Amino acid sequence: MSFESLGLAPALLRALADQGYTQPTPIQAGAIPLVLEGHDLLAAAQTGTGKTAAFALPLLQYLSTAGATQTRRPRALVLTPTRELAAQVHDNLRDYGKHLRVSSTTIFGGVGMGPQMQALRRGVDVVIATPGRLIDHMQQRSVDLSGVEVLVLDEADRMLDMGFLPAIKRILQALPKQRQTLLFSATFAEPIKALAMQFMRSPREVSVTPPNTVAPLVTHHVHPVDASRKRDLLLHVLSQDSRRQSLVFSRTKHGADKLVKFLEASGVRSAAIHGNKSQNARTRALGDFKSGRVTVLVATDIAARGIDIDQLPMVINHDLPMVAEDYVHRIGRTGRAGAEGMAVSLVSHDESGLLRDIRKLLKQEIAITDVPGFEPSTPLRLDAGAPRPVQGQRQPRPQRNGHGGNHAQNRNPANAGRANRRPRRSGGNATRPETRG
Ligand code: AMP
Repeated sequence: MSFESLGLAPALLRALADQGYTQPTPIQAGAIPLVLEGHDLLAAAQTGTGKTAAFALPLLQYLSTAGATQTRRPRALVLTPTRELAAQVHDNLRDYGKHLRVSSTTIFGGVGMGPQMQALRRGVDVVIATPGRLIDHMQQRSVDLSGVEVLVLDEADRMLDMGFLPAIKRILQALPKQRQTLLFSATFAEPIKALAMQFMRSPREVSVTPPNTVAPLVTHHVHPVDASRKRDLLLHVLSQDSRRQSLVFSRTKHGADKLVKFLEASGVRSAAIHGNKSQNARTRALGDFKSGRVTVLVATDIAARGIDIDQLPMVINHDLPMVAEDYVHRIGRTGRAGAEGMAVSLVSHDESGLLRDIRKLLKQEIAITDVPGFEPSTPLRLDAGAPRPVQGQRQPRPQRNGHGGNHAQNRNPANAGRANRRPRRSGGNATRPETRG
């Protein structure tokens, strides 16, 4: 199967060749012809399957060929759950549309409204927005959605998880009824189907991966460890190949910041990305990671949505997610586009119940192996009564000067005297799982 056979215009084929893409991924092969024919589309595709190009290519083709009206109103709206995903979609649209004259802009929170208003006033073909900030613009009447011909809901399941349903419904009210709607979601859970039934016209369905499966080329490892020794084990795992880039997940923003401090003090170049960081800090952290200036990016679940890094070899869960589906999202960062990936989870006894949920969801065995020198004092429990962390509970403090006392942190004179300080709370919910980007 070739991109030519899907009916794409020469300008898009050239851009794809520039990207080095030789053939469409299954979601692209399934979705592109349907979207070009003008159908509404319900697509089940997880991150990493090439879903962005599956809607971006036919969208660009439509906008560049269907008679441009002399209007400044946006003709297409892409809604995404997070700022990072919006920025990523924008980048992709620019890459794929580089030989076309289709303009696009992003609308998301965390940055000033002024430049966004100016861009909207100048006129733009595609708006890529997160729901909250788009509503702000609607209230200020700085955006007119009455000319939208194509609506894309990207990672719709995630938007619903994040509580955006009321905002989405409000936005939908402002759009013309006559339009094409494309909905992408990792799964077709009931609320997604309900949304589709209400707002789409006889959508065609394309599904390329069974719901809740992870890329088959990813191998999963669990290392049981005492909570107090997790970060030492993290350092040990990272030291196996110090050039390899890793994305490390922390359940809380505060935990992410503390890990970065620890890793930096241990000589590992690292950066954190989470909802308390300004948009500039997040963009810088991601840029530094992509360029290789930092080897470890520590992220919370919400902040990690939309991070697109080619062929990330390793994802490490310093903490397991509270919701098993988030494991699938996290692991979607590795093993992309046919590359091999590795997922390593450092699991303490109190997270046994979460591991049990993940195993059930994945329906596949995960190798559980002790790392010599890091064997836990309390083994994991995978029976029905397995314990789970209480939401909002403070993470156990790492023990200093215990076993493994020769790790880099203790050798670093900069850390002298810190051992007995209590972690400072940076905000009301700093130790609670992050719920909003
Ligand atoms: P996505 O699922 O949209 O996040 O895409 C995952 C990754 O696959 C991105 O890095 C894309 O640049 C890349 N990609 C998308 N389409 C193709 C293709 N046809 N061939 C190779 N890589 C692709």
